[in-house]
Amino acid sequence: MTNPGVLYIVPTPIGNLDDITLRALQVLKSVDLIAAEDTRHSQKLLHHFGVDKPLTTYHDHGAELQGEKLLQRLSQGESIALISDAGTPLISDPGYRLVRQAREQGIAVTALPGASATLTALSASGLATDRFTFAGFLPAKSQARKAAYESLVNADYTSVYFESPHRIEASIADAVEVLGGERQAVLARELTKTFETWLGPDLESIQRALGEDSNQRRGEMVLMIGGVEHAEKAVSLDSEAEKVMSVLAQELPTKQAARLGEKITGVAKKVLYQWAVSVQPDDRSDA
Ligand code: SAM
Repeated sequence: MTNPGVLYIVPTPIGNLDDITLRALQVLKSVDLIAAEDTRHSQKLLHHFGVDKPLTTYHDHGAELQGEKLLQRLSQGESIALISDAGTPLISDPGYRLVRQAREQGIAVTALPGASATLTALSASGLATDRFTFAGFLPAKSQARKAAYESLVNADYTSVYFESPHRIEASIADAVEVLGGERQAVLARELTKTFETWLGPDLESIQRALGEDSNQRRGEMVLMIGGVEHAEKAVSLDSEAEKVMSVLAQELPTKQAARLGEKITGVAKKVLYQWAVSVQPDDRSDA
């Protein structure tokens, strides 16, 4: 009986061709077949690196037939590299169904580390990286997008999204409306390319930069929204207000505690709320 081949998940550059890895080239040159999202696009890349291997198309929406053929070849002992147009396959790119089926059939799947817009953006954003979520592309419609932003009102971790250049202005306007212009945020544009740009440090600054220069609304972009804990850590109270809020926030939902705290201390409820949120990151379900 033939031993099954290996399905390799191979990242490709997100702009700068020098970001291909030695191992990626080695694998691409050694496999029997390369499955790509867009074979014409990938052919140019492979040609640049002197990789001359048969190419076939793979999309998750055509997965049944395309996947079946690939799985059959893998089970017959051939090795296949899966690549996408750019970056790490499966990360908002095709491949999930194929990987799942391969695993179900006992076929070895090996992922190579490499270029990823998400991690490249996050690692140089200056936002907290100890905890983050990545949620792919933001919804195209304003209502759904606002709902996505609403889920971040009390989030104490960094949130990473892909956003389209056609929607970025409207998207940032929604974010400002829901989260406030002072919320920490960074927009990373055209990473690893000639016009790589970083906008921030908050939503208001990004909105201003996008409004002032239409070039900032072009290209590929990653939007990162800072966590509320980190954005608002700077809030400090005098000892009297702190004592009052410590007691109230223990006993009441944070919003209610802030409202009552304002009446007792005279300090604005927004400030009290922010203070409570920053010192009690796990107690915010009510807000
Ligand atoms: N799998 C890819 C990865 O790992 O980077 C992401 C694919 S997703 C279909 C494409 C989106 O990634 C773009 O619309 C953009 O939001 C982001 N992106 C890709 N390349 C980028 C770059 N050079 N700079 C900024 N964002 C980029």
